[in-house]
Amino acid sequence: MTDVVATNQTILVVGGGISGMTAAIEAAECGKDVVLLEKNPSVGGRVSQLYKYFPKLCFPTCGMEINLRRMKALKNLRVVTMAEVTGIQGDAGNYDVSVRIAPRYVNENCTACGDCARAVEAEYDDEFNYGLTKRKGAYLPFNMAYPQRYVVDPAMIGSDDAEKAKAACKVDAIDLDMKEENLQFKAGAVIWATGWQPYDAGRIQPYGYDRIQNVITSVEFERLMDPFGPTGGKLLRPSDGKEAKDVAFIQCAGSRDKNHLAHCSRICCMASLKQSTYVQEQFGDEGKSSIYYIDIRAIDRFEDFYAKVKANGNVRFVKSKVANITEDTKTGNPILHGVDTEGYNRYSNPHDLVVLAIGMQPSVPKDAFPADVVVNESGFVEPAEKNGGVFAAGTASDALDVNRAVQHATASALRAIQVVNRVAGAES
Ligand SMILES: Cc1cc2nc3c(=O)[nH]c(=O)nc-3n(C[C@H](O)[C@H](O)[C@H](O)COP(=O)(O)OP(=O)(O)OC[C@H]3O[C@@H](n4cnc5c(N)ncnc54)[C@H](O)[C@@H]3O)c2cc1C
Ligand code: SF4
Ligand code: SF4
Repeated sequence: MTDVVATNQTILVVGGGISGMTAAIEAAECGKDVVLLEKNPSVGGRVSQLYKYFPKLCFPTCGMEINLRRMKALKNLRVVTMAEVTGIQGDAGNYDVSVRIAPRYVNENCTACGDCARAVEAEYDDEFNYGLTKRKGAYLPFNMAYPQRYVVDPAMIGSDDAEKAKAACKVDAIDLDMKEENLQFKAGAVIWATGWQPYDAGRIQPYGYDRIQNVITSVEFERLMDPFGPTGGKLLRPSDGKEAKDVAFIQCAGSRDKNHLAHCSRICCMASLKQSTYVQEQFGDEGKSSIYYIDIRAIDRFEDFYAKVKANGNVRFVKSKVANITEDTKTGNPILHGVDTEGYNRYSNPHDLVVLAIGMQPSVPKDAFPADVVVNESGFVEPAEKNGGVFAAGTASDALDVNRAVQHATASALRAIQVVNRVAGAES
């Protein structure tokens, strides 16, 4: 049974990505009692799925490691995974929270030895790799997962494989009778850090994501570069495993379009500029990138990064909204069609691989919020007085890069601390 001891001086953080982790750690390091809920089996959110960070091109694992170390040292920070909030009622300083916890089928005894995974045959789409590979029915979500505890896929329950996994475990960590739990507890303030999700690329029909194998999204591209990803870090295209030396990036894929997402997703220009460096990292001067854009939005210190990429002779900028993509069925090459708005020339350009710089949208749809909060037209949480003691952190509030998401999360922690301090003051 999961137990959560919480009072109306507790700060609840919903979502364990970089923003939620930051808010939770900052509040707990100020001495507050914090409960962090994450719906996935481990914390880390989408940054743990990135290969490198712009603008420094360092690995996200390093920042994650620091946060995990801080988190583990805090006795007043309780992390509960596989947990989703189903309802929040009340006012600032006095919330009643209902939470549903999905069964993991693996308890605290787990030493992450991996014997259960080796014992089973059943395989399912690997969410961490956006379905580009399969994973076993008993699995660790990714190498750095916290907690370092395996999960049994619910689809495997009741099968022979589930029994094989249980039999393989020498420390009695697999409990196939685990059930969903429903918890109720108090909180004084809530930090909503549920983050973002990529826009559904299949809905941008002219780009053929659902028909052309060598059209992928920017989030999938990050996984292809990762040494622990589906291709072991080799830039190979999905249709035939050929090296993708000529890569096209299509900007505003789903964003700034009233038929899809009206807002600018803010980070995808930088993401493509960064990913063009991946092509060269892999193939040197044989690696060529073409960035099809409406305008490049690289703000503040990111402008220097843009200037550096622009100066690179292996990266071509084509000012054009790509009209559509067809496939050369002989070579498997996607062919981009459109008009270059600088020379007003029509083009039909083949490339090895196309990467859609996919838009960011809130991970919780605006009509599915379990709390009464004000959201804008895109579904991002507004900083409204009416939200009382509920504060958004990071990309739940807007499309943000990590640096801005972390700053925003720190500010949200401060707002939440002010609320619970008022409660403490009133009760003393
Ligand atoms: C292709 C691409 C490349 C990028 N590269 C960079 C880069 O190089 N540098 C950079 O600064 N930024 C980059 N970004 C942006 C970066 O990914 C975000 O800034 C970052 O993920 C924001 O973190 P977050 O915690 O706000 O959200 P998330 O990472 O989305 O985390 C949210 C967490 O909340 C959890 N959650 C969701 N709903 C619930 C719920 N109902 N209950 C409980 N938990 C929930 C999720 O499982 C997740 O763990 C990139 C984005 C894209 C699309
Ligand atoms: S559940 Fe058991 S067998 Fe599986 S990784 Fe954990 S300790 Fe090892
Ligand atoms: S950041 Fe760039 S690619 Fe992304 S929506 Fe804005 S303009 Fe388009």
